[in-house]
Amino acid sequence: MYEYRCEKCGKTFEKLRRMSDADKDLECPDCHSEKVERQVSGFAMTGCGGGSGRFR
Ligand SMILES: [Zn+2]
Repeated sequence: MYEYRCEKCGKTFEKLRRMSDADKDLECPDCHSEKVERQVSGFAMTGCGGGSGRFR
């Protein structure tokens, strides 16, 4: 699930997309503008898995 925000009308909406489709063109369901940016929501890739030290 990805969250998008329309730059034109400011509407935020969620779409269920595949990872490979996440950056493809999308249009706002409200004003049909294609100026939509993907929001980073839910899980961010920061915080875990970045270090070399792991528990045994
Ligand atoms: Zn819009």
